[in-house]
Amino acid sequence: MSQKTGAIFLDRDGVINENSSDHVKSWDEFQFIPNAIRTICELTETGLPIFVVTNQAAVNRGLMSVETLNDIHSRMLSIISGQGGKITKVYFCPHDNHEKCNCRKPEPGMLLQAAEEYNIDLKKSFMVGDAWTDIAAGRAVGAHGILLMTGRGRWNVATSWDKFGMDMSAAVDVADAAYIVKEHLAGRPVNTTDRLKNAFRMGLRSQEAWVL
Ligand SMILES: [Mg+2]
Ligand SMILES: [Zn+2]
Repeated sequence: MSQKTGAIFLDRDGVINENSSDHVKSWDEFQFIPNAIRTICELTETGLPIFVVTNQAAVNRGLMSVETLNDIHSRMLSIISGQGGKITKVYFCPHDNHEKCNCRKPEPGMLLQAAEEYNIDLKKSFMVGDAWTDIAAGRAVGAHGILLMTGRGRWNVATSWDKFGMDMSAAVDVADAAYIVKEHLAGRPVNTTDRLKNAFRMGLRSQEAWVL
């Protein structure tokens, strides 16, 4: 009986590249978030496979072709692999909300598909994203969610805490999330980081900071 491994699932927009409220519709609009490539290299060294799971409704809204999306992903992967990082596969959901598919996050379809194709134990997995819908997709299959403050994260943190309580982690950016992943893998689960606490303390009045 072979032991299934966990995996690291990364949302794309707001995690690996800067989020755009108008969608990232071409390679010209794709801008890596500082530290993201280095962090993917660092996460590659954990030995866990890394998957990207990204909602790309711009495809079915007619704003971008699947060919263009695949082009963006192949350029992204070649830059990452050129620096020593390995993303095993990029999964994307092309559907719009009203199509009610099972892959658009918060639905967990993309994670389930990866689990089936690569024999992944989702309960030993991590889902890193900047939206509550990322955390929800992970939780639906027992993966540990890590919400980032990059991208849309700051506008999603209150909703996420409301929905998931302390049963999730929060981090400044993907580099910070890598620290949380590694602590969990080492048997020292933590829910946040000093960087995030400091960032919040700077932004909060003293009587608000106690929650952290
Ligand atoms: Mg995102
Ligand atoms: Zn879908």
